[in-house]
Formats: sequence, C-alpha cells, structure tokens
Amino acid sequence: MPEAKLSLRGVQKSFADNQVLSGIDLDVHAGEMICLIGASGSGKSTLLRCINQLEAIDEGSIWLDGVDISEPGIDLAPIRRRIGIVFQSYNLFPHMSAIENVQLAPRRVLKQSADARTDKAEALFNRFGLAQHMHKYPDQLSGGQQQRVAVIRALAMEPEIMLFDEITAALDPELVGEVLSVLRHLRAEGMTMLLATHEMGFAREVADRICFMDGGRILEQGKPEQIFTAPQKPRTQAFLKAVL
Ligand code: ADP
Ligand code: MG
Repeated sequence: MPEAKLSLRGVQKSFADNQVLSGIDLDVHAGEMICLIGASGSGKSTLLRCINQLEAIDEGSIWLDGVDISEPGIDLAPIRRRIGIVFQSYNLFPHMSAIENVQLAPRRVLKQSADARTDKAEALFNRFGLAQHMHKYPDQLSGGQQQRVAVIRALAMEPEIMLFDEITAALDPELVGEVLSVLRHLRAEGMTMLLATHEMGFAREVADRICFMDGGRILEQGKPEQIFTAPQKPRTQAFLKAVL
C-alpha cells in the first residue's frame, strides 16, 4: 500500500478508442505542490478529473491516505469533498453574491449551521484579501476576483488536497498575478496541491516537483531547477524550448 497522501498506480483512461492516460504512476505527499506541464491534449485535465473521480478510470488504482478510491462502488461524495477542484471557467452562480456562492455547498453538503457557515466564509474572504467584495455579485467582480472566489468556494469544503486546472488561463494578463498569489498563500499554509498550468515562471518558482506530460504519460519529472535547466528527454526539451 503506497504511503503518500495521494498515489496513482498504472492509471489508464480512454475515451472510445482514444487512449488519453497510458499508465500514470504518481505520488503526492502531504504539503507538496506539484505542477503538471505539457502540450495541449497531453492528458493533464483528464488526469485531474480522474483523481477527483469526475471520470472513472479504466485500469490501475488511485489511493487517498492508503484507501483505494478507484474501486467500483465506492461512495464518491466524501472523496470529492476531500479533494477540491477549480477549473479555468469559474462558473459562479450569477444570481448569488460571492459569499452566497461560497456558502452554498457547505449548507447543502456539510449541513453546517448558518452561523458556522458565515464565520467560516468570512474568515476565508479575509484570509484571501477579498473581504470588501464578499457581498458583491459575480458581474461586479473582475475575472481575477471571481476566480479567487471560486478558490474560496472550494476551500469552504475544507479539502485535504486541491486540484487546479489552468485556473489563470482565461484571465487577462494583469489579473493572473492575484490568482497565483492565492496559490502561493495556500502553499505557505501547507496545502497539498496538484496544478495543471502554463505559467512556467510560477511553476519554476513555487513547485516542489514538475511533471512533464506527453501523450498520456508522465514522461519526465523532477525538481523545477532540474526540469527547467537540464531536461533529459528530447520531448521535454522541445516543449520547454517552444514555451519559454
Ligand atoms: P490537456 O488538459 O493536457 O490539454 P486533456 O486531458 O484535456 O488534455 O485531453 C486529452 C485528450 O483527451 C484530448 O485528445 C481530448 O480530446 C480527449 N478528451 C478529453 N476529455 C474528453 C471527453 N470527455 N470525451 C472525449 N475525449 C476527451
Ligand atoms: Mg487541460
């Protein structure tokens, strides 16, 4: 049984005859921040969606704290609570204020009292510097602020692991920094995180480990310094040359 917080062994996933994940082995230790990089179509989003059990895997297994969460028939709701995910499109409900968006899932799923929910949500808005915006509606917020609310919404479920799929990709360049700073903050607090990102400078600066994905495999992984300055595989070299 793997000892990491999250472990993947031999994970395979196909859509019809398109094999998208071709045997992924990955260990994520508590408090680690891992960045997935790689070309579009290499399988980064599918990998994150499989970890969160939004997609069922075909082969292999996924372990969370030593429990196989990929077994057929396992109760998915508690797993999705423990593993939060934030996407590129933040999809806040437009008819609810920021704080109402954040309180929705804790109300429905965690069944917390109104006071407990409000205290917790306000604490989150304070922690991430958004207290002055919490009663605004999504259309009164910038894209960067909306995405930060989406992160807070995921954190309100008190996840143990956070997955982030290109969460800055849809933002205007001047708004990217404020969202990345939320991730820095979470890292400093010791959150275990797995991110798909095209922000190479950020990945290099903050990741504990970089995984380069190619054709549904982790072709190469290592410390940022090693991957960015001395990649071993020709495909990693070619990718970095094109994006840096
Ligand atoms: P990345 O995030 O690295 O760009 P994706 O995981 O989104 O890669 O996609 C990998 C491959 O899987 C692509 O060929 C994509 O078309 C395919 N794919 C992803 N999701 C689906 C789906 N729901 N149905 C069919 N094909 C999919
Ligand atoms: Mg993707």
